[in-house]
Amino acid sequence: MNQSLNNGNLAKPSKIDYKSLFKLNTDGIVTLNIHGNIYDGNIAVEKLSGRTIQEMIHTSFLDYVVEEDKKDAYECFKLAINGTSKESKFVFIHKSGELIPCVVKFIPMVETNIEKGLFLVIKDARVFDYLSTKYRESQLNFKIIAENVQDVIILMDDQKNYLYISPSSEVMFGYDSNHNNHVKREPYFNIHPDYLELIDQSFNNAIDNGIPFSITLKALHMTKGWIWTQLTGTPVFDKDKFKHIVLVARDITLQKENEEKLTYLAFHDSLTGLPNRRFFEIRLRETIEKLNVEGETFSLLLFDIDNFKEINDSWGHEAGDQVIQEFAKRIQGIVADDGVVARLGGDEFVVILYHIQSENEVEKFIAKIQQETIKKIVTDKTEITMTSSIGATICTTKNKDESYFINSADVALYNVKEKGKNRYHINFS
Ligand code: GH3
Ligand code: MG
Repeated sequence: MNQSLNNGNLAKPSKIDYKSLFKLNTDGIVTLNIHGNIYDGNIAVEKLSGRTIQEMIHTSFLDYVVEEDKKDAYECFKLAINGTSKESKFVFIHKSGELIPCVVKFIPMVETNIEKGLFLVIKDARVFDYLSTKYRESQLNFKIIAENVQDVIILMDDQKNYLYISPSSEVMFGYDSNHNNHVKREPYFNIHPDYLELIDQSFNNAIDNGIPFSITLKALHMTKGWIWTQLTGTPVFDKDKFKHIVLVARDITLQKENEEKLTYLAFHDSLTGLPNRRFFEIRLRETIEKLNVEGETFSLLLFDIDNFKEINDSWGHEAGDQVIQEFAKRIQGIVADDGVVARLGGDEFVVILYHIQSENEVEKFIAKIQQETIKKIVTDKTEITMTSSIGATICTTKNKDESYFINSADVALYNVKEKGKNRYHINFS
């Protein structure tokens, strides 16, 4: 067993240990005499400088420092000679002429048998410079992106503290110009209460499981009120440890409005604003389902304006349009919440009347419609009086499809048209 370990002291390194520490060190090391001349160096220095030690012996280390760093290098050298170690950064000139930034430490020799002098430990700083440039670039890139996009970029830590909110929040959410005030706000301070659970769940899932999210929610604009916002969240981890989450918020109010407009157009008739055939079919399916499940009977009524072509022919298409619009308004006024009115196309309308149990109820409703229909319609050109034919079916049979009831109402309407129009016919289906 090693004696020096037995008595608790570490063995003193031998001269050979020092030599290999010097020779094989990955940092460049040269020894300088009191005049700054090189009298030894290691392999790393040869690599760093592109010169052999032999080539450099008896030359001044300053010969290899760029002109502008010479003064600073000399001062560090003088300090070290007087016993003060100092680290600095100089650019050395490689044999090829390449400039190599290095971090250099001057270490005074405490004891030497050879000559009083110092060690110069030289670290190649190119890799640090490269990394720090990259880091600065990435910081700058983040700043440029964050401060110039229209989206709002938010950084939050795992405690849901705001670390950063980009200035675009002024435009998107109407905050005052000192947007950094909001960094101190409560978590989710401008999120609509209906979406708090959603955002919190998404956030926690992102932190715990590293899963990014994209959600649509309402956020508060200082003056405009709630605005539709698309929020994406990407958790950032550093060696498996959650660092922060990057949230990108985009105002999608316009997009939402457009979607709503398109949905409206897809289900409504542009001339009358009434629901269209597609809407009617969905509602009819739902009503049939209620009949099937709850036994709730209803009535389906088809309306067709009598001799409408003549109105078009006599007064023009525009007057015809006005008649259609007025007719739509009148039926809608009577049906109100008791059912749904839709325009099927041309001068044809359909009504689903909910909760209908007897023929009498349908007749009362038809009477009201007829009373309204015969009232004069004032168009730009003239006053028009019109009538309509009505085919109605009272729907009581379960487990039938839409076409079964539509056909029944069609048959009833056909019946009326056959018999001379301006009347109604009711059947059961
Ligand atoms: P009937 O008494 O048998 O119902 O015959 P009608 O003259 O009313 O004609 P019908 O119901 O068979 O056809 C409706 C006409 O409505 C056909 C078309 O020229 C016209 N039409 C269809 N859509 C529009 C529209 O949007 N505006 C106008 N002004 N006319 C339309
Ligand atoms: Mg007609």
